[in-house]
Amino acid sequence: MADELIIKDLHVNVEDKEIIKGLNLTIRQGETHVIMGPNGSGKSTLSNTIMGHPRYTVTAGDIIWQGESILDLPADRRARRGLFLAFQYPMEVPGVSASNFLRTALTNIRKGDQAPTITPDNLGEIGDGSGGNVAKVGGDGANIDRSKRQILIPPKEFRTILKSKLNLLQMDEKYTKRYLNDGFSGGEKKRMEVLQMAVLSPKIAFLDEPDSGLDIDAIRIVGEGVSKLKGPDMGIVVITHQQRILNYLDVDFVHVMMQGYLVKSGGKELVKEIEERGYGWIREEAGLAVGAEEDV
Ligand code: ADP
Ligand code: MG
Repeated sequence: MADELIIKDLHVNVEDKEIIKGLNLTIRQGETHVIMGPNGSGKSTLSNTIMGHPRYTVTAGDIIWQGESILDLPADRRARRGLFLAFQYPMEVPGVSASNFLRTALTNIRKGDQAPTITPDNLGEIGDGSGGNVAKVGGDGANIDRSKRQILIPPKEFRTILKSKLNLLQMDEKYTKRYLNDGFSGGEKKRMEVLQMAVLSPKIAFLDEPDSGLDIDAIRIVGEGVSKLKGPDMGIVVITHQQRILNYLDVDFVHVMMQGYLVKSGGKELVKEIEERGYGWIREEAGLAVGAEEDV
């Protein structure tokens, strides 16, 4: 049976300001949802809260995944249980190759829910993913308890996985050899997020504006990439402003978020209606005040 993520009467504060004001939504593996809404309506707040970002405080309600509340779990435990977020603004990490980042992330995910998280302090082995040139590390070596070292997925095995995902997404291997997102274009960063999603194969994936700032070709590449990852075991939530990326995804449910509320849900016909009529009529229907957010 498909696992369910149930968001129940969720209230979220950021720095003592209530941003999400009682939100209900259920997402199942295999479903594709879209969340649309003006800037500042709380869409990124919702996805960050689901992933357990410490800056977002849940003041009421619950987030239930696989039958259990995950509110007390830190972000890495949520990821290990199959939740994933592709960021609106992916971070640049100079000094860490994309390949090593992905290998560490996949090892962490696979270690299961109880094992310690791999950090620079307990990292037992890093390599360039080629099978050669593997270095043993561990700070200065003196203070590391060898028995507590966390060993990464063997380079050969990781390389096979990475290659198959790169092929699937028609991505060039050269990006994985560079430092993560360092100097990447907007489109390359978003593709790297999709590659991360492909490697980690989450059960529910949130994609926060995977199309923002991209040209038409880059949107197609990202849209087709996500659509290749879709399947009965993956639930997808795409947060977007634009209808274009949805041409590549078979969308089941469309939700509109405004001023911290999910004010309307429907099928994909709703996307077209918003494209033609904007958000004003939905705001009016919901009885919300004008000007509390920025329409885009
Ligand atoms: P959206 O993704 O729909 O554009 P956000 O969730 O980013 O909206 O923002 C919703 C509201 O919460 C905005 O008013 C924004 O200023 C505020 N907000 C979001 N994140 C933070 C934060 N980390 N610190 C302060 N305010 C925030
Ligand atoms: Mg946002």
